[in-house]
Amino acid sequence: MKTPLVEMDGDEMTRILWQKIKDKLILPYVDLKTEYYDLGLKHRDETDDRVTVESAEATLKYGVAVKCATITPNAQRVEEYGLKQMWKSPNGTIRAILDGTVFRAPVVVKGVSPCVRNWEKPITIARHAYGDVYKNTEFRVPGPGKAELCFTGEDGAETRQTIMQFEGPGIIQGQHNTDRSIASFARSCFNYALSVKQDLWFSTKDTISKIYDHRFKDIFAELYETEFKPAFEAAGIEYFYTLIDDAVARVIRSRGGFIWALKNYDGDVMSDMIATAFGSLAMMTSVLVSPGGQFEYEAAHGTVTRHYYRYLKGEETSTNPVATIFAWTGALRKRGELDGLADLQAFADRLEKATLATIEGGRMTKDLVALYEGEATGLNSDAFLDAIAQTLESL
Ligand code: NAP
Ligand code: MG
Repeated sequence: MKTPLVEMDGDEMTRILWQKIKDKLILPYVDLKTEYYDLGLKHRDETDDRVTVESAEATLKYGVAVKCATITPNAQRVEEYGLKQMWKSPNGTIRAILDGTVFRAPVVVKGVSPCVRNWEKPITIARHAYGDVYKNTEFRVPGPGKAELCFTGEDGAETRQTIMQFEGPGIIQGQHNTDRSIASFARSCFNYALSVKQDLWFSTKDTISKIYDHRFKDIFAELYETEFKPAFEAAGIEYFYTLIDDAVARVIRSRGGFIWALKNYDGDVMSDMIATAFGSLAMMTSVLVSPGGQFEYEAAHGTVTRHYYRYLKGEETSTNPVATIFAWTGALRKRGELDGLADLQAFADRLEKATLATIEGGRMTKDLVALYEGEATGLNSDAFLDAIAQTLESL
């Protein structure tokens, strides 16, 4: 390796798996270079969460990070860890610094079929993570009266429109987004589509929301025309806009293998639907892509607390490491691409292949046994990682 990966360690069961994945599947094969940041809750607390900020800044500097799942503290965690304060979600902090978009993609393996029979390849969801209903202003209207939407410019000029002349009680809501945030979302999507060489779909409800949703459509179209079209054509991929109703129907009938970009709420709902239909949260990976072209890879699931408490009692656990392994392979492959290291890219491919081949050979963690069509042996995490290492040696 030439440039180090930014390594963000995490919490609980995934922290245990993290070390095992490195020891069994990476360090024996890769001359691994990382800049290590311990985002474990204890160390975040000790550093007043500076470590999270520093790890994000290192990602801006080096370009590629791999992150372990981390605890987002709540009141119970503050007590459990004796925290100085209820630190913010590390993912939120990192996202705010990188200004990125999160892409979630399922790991597709033969024998674990999606509910939708014709889906052969993964569908990656790109969710805009700013604004709309998540940053709304809303209240109940007590009774008759006029609700207005009013904008006052810095020069004092007002734009005013009636929302509703209420005749009785009701509700109102104000939403916003910014050209800047939408454009950075669009850039992340175009960059990611180019990096994985898959078509990019984008859908909104612009026929109904003729200004709000239409602005999203226009910004995407404009950036595509002015900045990304030649690269898309060279890569042989397509940018495709369609109304969300139409997109839903096409997604269900598709074979998969594309990226579906969605507004904040649509992405929230559709990513859960797609994830569930593909099988398991433990098989879902996630990558944060910044408009500047930085990449941070992680598993989509959390720290698997329930398994960790069993582990602490000395019990064996069968926690699925696949999404975390794919976070590593995603990061190693990207690092290899950026630094022109064909060996490193080939190793990432080989480790993914070994992981899938192990499952397809009937050896897997217990969560997958229930989903698997065919003879399957449920292994604990260690035995499964050893089985992958064995497959890796044979490839
Ligand atoms: P979780 O860690 O994703 O686990 C929820 C349940 O899903 C588990 O109890 C387990 O079910 C199953 N599961 C998830 N991943 C699995 C895997 N790899 N292998 C096998 N089963 C798996 O969610 P949570 O329990 O709600 O959250 C735990 C902690 O994670 C919280 O402190 C939260 O803040 C944090 N979190 C972090 C991130 C992140 O860093 N990106 C994301 C989400 C949550 P069974 O118990 O039935 O086996
Ligand atoms: Mg959701």
